Amino acid sequence: MSSENGAPRHTGLGTVDAVVVGAGPNGLTAAAVLADAGWDVVVLEEQPVPGGAVRSAELHPGFTADLFSAFHPLAAASPAFRSLDLGSHGLRWSRSAAAFGHPSGPDDDDAVVVRPDPDDTAADLERRCAGDGKTWLALVEQWTRIREPFMQALLRPFPPVRGAGS
Ligand SMILES: Cc1cc2nc3c(=O)[nH]c(=O)nc-3n(C[C@H](O)[C@H](O)[C@H](O)COP(=O)(O)OP(=O)(O)OC[C@H]3O[C@@H](n4cnc5c(N)ncnc54)[C@H](O)[C@@H]3O)c2cc1C
Repeated sequence: MSSENGAPRHTGLGTVDAVVVGAGPNGLTAAAVLADAGWDVVVLEEQPVPGGAVRSAELHPGFTADLFSAFHPLAAASPAFRSLDLGSHGLRWSRSAAAFGHPSGPDDDDAVVVRPDPDDTAADLERRCAGDGKTWLALVEQWTRIREPFMQALLRPFPPVRGAGS
C-alpha cells in the first residue's frame, strides 16, 4: 500500500500475511481458513460489530431477531463452514418443526406445510388431494439422487461444474 507520492502508507497494522476487508460471513470464513493455515490475518470492519448481513440483535426486550438474513440451509450444508468446526466454538443451528408453509390469507390456519420428514408432508398433501402425497415423495426421491452433485456444484470452489461432472 502506498500514498499518492509513492511513499509507503503507515496503516498502524504492522506486517501481516493477509488483510481481509469486511467481517461478513465470507470475509470471516476466508480469514479463518487462512488463520487455520498458519497465516497472520487482520480483518477490517467498518461497522461496530462483525457479521455483515448475517447479524441479530435484541430489537424487543427478551427477543433476539435477525436483522437481515434469516434462514440458512445452505450455510448448514456448506463444506467451508463445516470444515471450520463452528460447533466447537458455540454455533448451534435451530431447526423448526415446520420448514415453511404458505397460508392463503391471515385466517388460514390449515395451510400446506413442508416438514423435515417427507412422509409427514406427503400425508398432509394426500389429505387434501389424492395422489399429491405420492408425487411429493417422487420429487423427494429425485432430489435425493441429485442432491450430492448439485450441492457440490453450488457450494464448492470454481469451476462450479466440477462436482456435477464427477
Ligand atoms: C435483507 C437481507 C436478507 C437476506 N436473507 C438471506 C437469507 O435468509 N438466507 C441467506 O442465506 N442469505 C440471505 N441474505 C444474503 C446473505 O446475508 C449474504 O449472502 C451474506 O451476508 C454475504 O456475506 P458477505 O461476507 O459476502 O457480505 P456481507 O455480509 O455484506 O458483509 C460485508 C461486510 O463488509 C463490511 N465492509 C464493506 N465495505 C467495507 C470497507 N470498505 N471497509 C471495511 N468493512 C467493509 C460491511 O460492513 C460488512 O460487515 C440476505 C441479505 C440481505 C441484505
